[in-house]
Amino acid sequence: MEKHPENSPEYVGLTVNAGVAQPPSVNPYLKPRRRQPLPSAADLVEGILKGDVTRLARAVTLIESVAPQHQAIAQEVIEKCLPYSGHSRRIGITGVPGAGKSTSIDVFGLHVLKDGGKLAVLAIDPSSERTQGSILGDKTRMEKLAVHPNAFIRPSPSAGSLGGVARKTRETIVLCEAAGFDNVFVETVGVGQSETAVHSMVDFFLLIQLAGTGDELQGIKRGIMEMADGIVINKADGDNIERAKLAQAQFRSALRLFPTPPSGWTPEVLTYSGYFELGIPEVWDMIDRYFHFVKENGYFERRRLNQARYWMYETIDSELRRRFYDDPDRASLIAETERKVLDNRLSPFAAAQLLLK
Ligand code: GDP
Repeated sequence: MEKHPENSPEYVGLTVNAGVAQPPSVNPYLKPRRRQPLPSAADLVEGILKGDVTRLARAVTLIESVAPQHQAIAQEVIEKCLPYSGHSRRIGITGVPGAGKSTSIDVFGLHVLKDGGKLAVLAIDPSSERTQGSILGDKTRMEKLAVHPNAFIRPSPSAGSLGGVARKTRETIVLCEAAGFDNVFVETVGVGQSETAVHSMVDFFLLIQLAGTGDELQGIKRGIMEMADGIVINKADGDNIERAKLAQAQFRSALRLFPTPPSGWTPEVLTYSGYFELGIPEVWDMIDRYFHFVKENGYFERRRLNQARYWMYETIDSELRRRFYDDPDRASLIAETERKVLDNRLSPFAAAQLLLK
């Protein structure tokens, strides 16, 4: 037997040994996979309306695709599903990384599903383009929901601008609702502009906070607090309960300085523990009361109409921009004009006017 290098006295552990020769192919019998034929819009719609999550997932993949033939089918599916949509409670959930969003969504989700119904968990994560694939909505982060037969978890669409990613999530909501999902959670990381995008597609916006070192209100943007319909302080367990209560008091007094939001609903501040499952029914009771309140006073309907209007103009904006930039003839002209601007031969405004003409 050949003497193994690891048995020699000079061996220090980090040596690189010559490996074994690799076989020419891992599996010589493997046939190249044939591409699945594109499903028809009618077939997808039929499946979605029956609540078939396989076809729902396929349709969502088409929504997320940039290929024009995929988009054509996706748009047809969305249009046919629209009359069946709208009947869910759309709840946005935000919080900085580590706030406990996945842990909380897992327990909130189970709480919601306890009484029956179906839950879709979607995400908007504009950073996912950088991180190569989504971090939010990842199945492994919501262990219990991931195996629940009535839960559908879909990570954030990863391609494109925040506006594009958000639009896809909004379109996915339509399909989920048509498939009978009566609760939709939209998760986002509370660090950037994605909250505004989520806020523009949900009925209730929940902000998850942590009790910190006293200055709870520092570092969270006023704008996010103004958007919140409810603020919940997570990890109110063990030694942290007192601090969470203190944070709660601070948030409550800070909110008093804000004008009453257009909903007429004063945002509530609660403490809970996602990990130890403490205070979950109370959080859900607050959300139930909110829905009751805004359905009663008409704000629910108004907010949805405003959102529909927002998305119409948002889509026009992005479509105009896309058509402007995607024209191959214009691309060279744009580049040339840009050079003139950079060489100070043309003012930026004159350049823009020229290109727009
Ligand atoms: P996300 O980044 O917002 O999705 O946060 P995670 O749900 O991944 O939670 C971040 C960390 O906080 C994990 O280590 C969790 O176990 C922990 N965590 C989440 N909720 C609680 C809680 O209620 N109490 C305590 N003590 N820890 C929690």
